[in-house]
Order: sequence, then structure tokens, then C-alpha cells
Amino acid sequence: MADEDELDYPVAEAIAPGAVHEVAPGVFWLRMPLDLTGLDHINLWLLRDGDGWTVVDTGMKSDRIHEIWEGVFAEQLDGRPITRVICTHFHPDHMGQAGWLTRHWNCALWTTRQEWLFGRMISLDRQDEVPTWFLDHYRRIGLSDRALTAMSERGYNHYNSVVTPIPDQVRRVSSGEVLRIGAHDWQVITGQGHSPEHVCLFCEELGLMISGDQVLPRITPHIGIYPSEPDANPLQDYIDSLDKFAGLPSDLLVLPAHGLPFRGLEKRLDALRRHHADRLNLLEDFCVEPTRALSTLEAMFGRRLSPFEAFLGLAESMAHLNCLMGQGRVARDADDQGVWRYQATSHRADAA
Ligand SMILES: [Zn+2]
Repeated sequence: MADEDELDYPVAEAIAPGAVHEVAPGVFWLRMPLDLTGLDHINLWLLRDGDGWTVVDTGMKSDRIHEIWEGVFAEQLDGRPITRVICTHFHPDHMGQAGWLTRHWNCALWTTRQEWLFGRMISLDRQDEVPTWFLDHYRRIGLSDRALTAMSERGYNHYNSVVTPIPDQVRRVSSGEVLRIGAHDWQVITGQGHSPEHVCLFCEELGLMISGDQVLPRITPHIGIYPSEPDANPLQDYIDSLDKFAGLPSDLLVLPAHGLPFRGLEKRLDALRRHHADRLNLLEDFCVEPTRALSTLEAMFGRRLSPFEAFLGLAESMAHLNCLMGQGRVARDADDQGVWRYQATSHRADAA
């Protein structure tokens, strides 16, 4: 994305796993390793909170992350307890250790209702076999019988293997609510699209915003369509929710979950909007003839993808197609094998 280098990164280098770095008085950056395609770390935040600490996000479930946390407890907390765990959203790198941390410290999980419900719902869905409706979704997208067989052999729900049990109770936070954390007020701003009700925390006094995955400096947050809600329009939700971040102070230091803290939120929001507008145009042009979702992968990504990248990429392509349908620019029907085909409703006037 063209604008990424125009952002200002006040801390030039990433910190080591388990080390902490104070980004503002009482606000510490903690980095945890992560083993995901394209992502090798997640940033967590430790906020001094009276006699204890508030933690924002927790890391994925793994023995190594437990060990790093134990080291942080021993060396980085000045002997004070963790008294509150806030999760920006339910994804395992963010909520994965929330169950363990809240039980270990006997404190509450704070997050939005939808993020908590999603985490609970997915963790309680313990079907062993991959359900037919799940495979049918991918059949309609155009996956071959062989790919569907491989998918059913991989199993259905891996969430519990990467999260400790999601807490049974929650302290709900809501859009617009102001949380007093230590000596400062933090306002909850919720985003959508990457996850259903994503928490961002804005502190005017400190000039900070913890953005989670909603706004990232170098990569675009994953926005995808999955079988549980095939007709959702998360990309439109995402684009619309970016407007909630307009008008924040221009010198705000944004603390993202991946990448480095940065200044230049407004530029980044513009770049994200432009990125998706360009991708929507590209897909619309690509769908001049009736096109299967699977066939859009090459147009969208321009290279061969690993199977896992293709799985995520398909979900992203679908999110753009559903967004185009929502805008009336693409229509969907099914071919004689029941596979969805997408076609532009008219030729774009400004198409190349
Ligand atoms: Zn996420």
C-alpha cells in the first residue's frame, strides 16, 4: 500500500518477546510470539491500574506463551496483580489466554457482548465431524470434491486448541463507554468487519489509541466470509465503521496488535479505504463474464497461494463480492452444478 511509509513510527524497532517498553506514562508494550501465516507476533498492552494492572489482549494458547507470561508476572509487574483483562476481540491470538489469566488472577474479562458471545459460542461448538452445511458452502464457491474431502479430513473446529477455556462470565463494555484505568479515562470505540464488535480504546489525555486489529499499519485486517454467515457483508461494515475513527487527534499514537506503534491515523484510514475501493473495482472488472469465487483468487492476489492462504484469500474475495452485491454492482446466480457465479451488473464507466 502506497501510504504505509508516510506513517511515523516513533519506536523504530520491535521489542523482544517478554520484554516491555513504556510507550507513555504507565502504558507498556509487551510482545508475544505468534505462529500464523504472515504474522510472527502480537502486541499486548499493560496499563498501570491503581494497585494492579489492566492487560489488553492476551496471546494465543501455547506453553511458550504461558512461560513468557510467568516471566512477566515475576519481573515486570512490580509485584502487583493483574486485576482486569480486556480483550479487543475473540480471535485466539487476542482472547486465547484470557481464560487462564482471569482464573490465575481471579479477575474479570472485559469485552463487548458480541466478542464474548462469539468466543463462547465457537468454543462450545464441539461437533466432531465437519457438518454438511459447512462443506456445502465451499462447494458453492467452487471447491473440487478432492479439496472438500481434504477439508473434511482436517476436522471442523480448531478454536479450542488455540484458546484456554473462554471465561464463563464477562464484564460487558459498550461503544462510547469510558473506562477509568489508573489515572486516565479510556473511551471505548467499537469497530466491525474484522470481528463483530471489536474494542478500541482511546485515551485523549495520553494521546493514545489501542487499535487491536481494527487499524493496522502495514497490513489490512483480514475480513472474510465464512460458512456460518454466507450472506454477511463484513467489508461494508468495516468501511462504515472506519468513519468512527475520523476526527481523533492528528498526533494520536496508535498502538496496533500487529506491527509498530505509529502516528498518522488519518492517512492510514484513507489508505485502507482506497485499498478496498481499488479491490472492489478490480473484482467488478474481473466479473464482466460470469465468474466463480474461486477464479477470483488470482485476480485478487496475483500469485499462487499456499492452501491456508487460499482458504483465507477465498474468504476475503467473498467479502469483496458480497460487498459489491450489497452495492448493486454484482449479481449472483448458480451454474448447473450449483456453484455460485458472479457477474457485474453493468460495465463500470471509469473502467480501464
Ligand atoms: Zn483478529
